[in-house]
Amino acid sequence: MAQEDGSATRRFDAQEAFGHLKRICAIGPRISTTDGMLKQQQYIRQHFKPLKAEVTLQRFSATNPLVDPRRFNEPAPQLELANMIVRLRPQAKQRLLFCCHYDTRPYPDRDRRNPQGTFIGANDGASGVAVLCELGRHLASLDGPYGIDMVFFDGEEFVYVDQRDPMFLGSTHFANEYVRRKENFRYVYAVLIDMVGDANLQIFFERNSLMYAPRLTRSIWGVAQRLKVREFIAKEKYKISDDHLPLNSIARIPTCDIIDFDFPTPRSKNAFWHTEKDTIENCSAESLGKVGKVLLQWTLEMQALNVAPAER
Ligand SMILES: [Zn+2]
Repeated sequence: MAQEDGSATRRFDAQEAFGHLKRICAIGPRISTTDGMLKQQQYIRQHFKPLKAEVTLQRFSATNPLVDPRRFNEPAPQLELANMIVRLRPQAKQRLLFCCHYDTRPYPDRDRRNPQGTFIGANDGASGVAVLCELGRHLASLDGPYGIDMVFFDGEEFVYVDQRDPMFLGSTHFANEYVRRKENFRYVYAVLIDMVGDANLQIFFERNSLMYAPRLTRSIWGVAQRLKVREFIAKEKYKISDDHLPLNSIARIPTCDIIDFDFPTPRSKNAFWHTEKDTIENCSAESLGKVGKVLLQWTLEMQALNVAPAER
């Protein structure tokens, strides 16, 4: 079994993933529509090109959150954002989708000392991209019934004013396009990762994931249990609004969110979230490695199945 599905030869490399995280953070903030975002797109493209992946931008427009529409009588000015889509074996009609957001919040607005400071988003931003880059390196050479797509969502938190500026712009656009285009392929499952770099990792069941995609969610935590990755805790904790909501409710793709919403610790009340403390130093290679290892093994097991599982 280990030989046949290749699992003995495929090891998710935590240090490789952490290298991605560090280099992505070195770009600086990757706010939607900025130069930092363009540099990150180049980084991802350069990573996936040698892996023979098809890499495209899915462009869309959004209202400029810096301009208050109430100040204008004419339509609010639009900005161009872009999801980045990486496709492996694009001919496969049954597909698995891995995704994360790659934009960073414009400001660390929950930072008590410096809410107008610099937000690096090592955990809330780079960690997802880093895991997908390293995961993609393995999945690119993997055969099986499923093709693999990886999508980096823009505009997850293009938010200058909390509660006013809409979130999940990229995933909402992606979900609407998937429905509108009536693609000749189908996403069987999608897995979203967000804030998976926390050096003190605890990933509980997320409640929306259990509601929309219970089989998928339990199967991933089941893999973690077998691999003895104890940071995946099979208990419910938070109900989180994230990019998985549009995928579940608009695109009807059963989607699970893997997120550690206790940054840094369960007692800290998420004290580092959206602050200047979201840095490389508060993340670890081990955490990226644990999440990557579980996702790689889960995919290997999916690819070894020859029947498409039914969520509903
Ligand atoms: Zn965030």
